Amino acid sequence: MELAPYAADDRKARGRRTPEPSAGHRSEYQRDRDRIIHSAAFRRLEYKTQVFVNHEGDLFRTRLTHSVEVAQIARTIARSLRLHEDLCEAISLAHDLGHTPFGHAGQDALNHCMRPYGGFEHNAQSLRVVDELEDKYAEFRGLNLMFDTREGILKHCSAARARELGEIGERFLQRTQPSLEAQLTNRADEIAYNNHDIDDGLRARLLTLDQLREVDLFRRHHDEVVDRYGQIHPKQQRHETIRRIINTLVTDLLGASQAALTQTGVDSIEAVRTLDKPLINFSPQIQTENEQLKRFLREHLYRHHQVYRMMVKAKRVVHELFDAFMQDPRLMPPDFFTAARRYEADLGEIGRARAVADYVAGMTDRYALDEHERLFDPRRLR
Ligand code: MG
Repeated sequence: MELAPYAADDRKARGRRTPEPSAGHRSEYQRDRDRIIHSAAFRRLEYKTQVFVNHEGDLFRTRLTHSVEVAQIARTIARSLRLHEDLCEAISLAHDLGHTPFGHAGQDALNHCMRPYGGFEHNAQSLRVVDELEDKYAEFRGLNLMFDTREGILKHCSAARARELGEIGERFLQRTQPSLEAQLTNRADEIAYNNHDIDDGLRARLLTLDQLREVDLFRRHHDEVVDRYGQIHPKQQRHETIRRIINTLVTDLLGASQAALTQTGVDSIEAVRTLDKPLINFSPQIQTENEQLKRFLREHLYRHHQVYRMMVKAKRVVHELFDAFMQDPRLMPPDFFTAARRYEADLGEIGRARAVADYVAGMTDRYALDEHERLFDPRRLR
């Protein structure tokens, strides 16, 4: 299929930080995707979670299955808009690589610990993982990904961080937009997590169908399912409703975005990159309904008593790990200790904190719990 004129095109793209010979039988974005899949950080996504803690149950989403769902939704949208599917897939699979253990709680805690040292931003950390921390290629640093892939991974970024990052951070200072592939992957992420949080929330019995019927988007589709099938099993009601919501969101996004693309008449990725607003959007009505859903999840799921208690414990673990390593970096594995010494030579305490944050952020949920026990329980020998 021919790409749209405003699609990313690896043959004309800005390329890699260290130039490499062409990828041959693969597109450059396929090569990026392959490097991401073969990274250690990608394998660790299996044991990291967003809302729940990894050991809470095998049926809940992990960051790995979330990333696969994002890739699936993003590719569907990309193909329909004739954008570059491979680029969307690469961005999707890498977008959460920098996440800490314990989801939002871990992220907040690490950001809090890092406040005196420039803060911790998970999007910037995802970029740091692919640019620096995955360090196993002989000829370049990190995974040496394409500019377009790196741009998509850096979804959000503070102005201070943007200044540090140079070229890749520029758009946050200029307030311009990334490629359409990056924009749509961002939306696919949102569609994926809102819907799987409903699904996992119901499954964990933290939410009920009745409660969810306060949300217009949910009630409309749930009514449709009940009208059509009568009283089917709650598991089927749940899934039939959620698949309809996802389909509505994707269809609406496609329609509204296609209309915006036609209306603005952009004809190249460069033109897209000069705009100050994204072109990949929901219609105003669905945007409002989607925000209502997000608000609902914030109030009823992310702040649910049971989730809250888990989050407080998770934060304590992250804080205690951070403080212990900060006080004595020698407690970290030798590679991180060496990195701490190296960064410290350049940046002082900020450098040491950066190495500690890299170590803590890289942990899976279960590794963090285990490491905490190893450090603080004197009965553990190793
Ligand atoms: Mg995500």
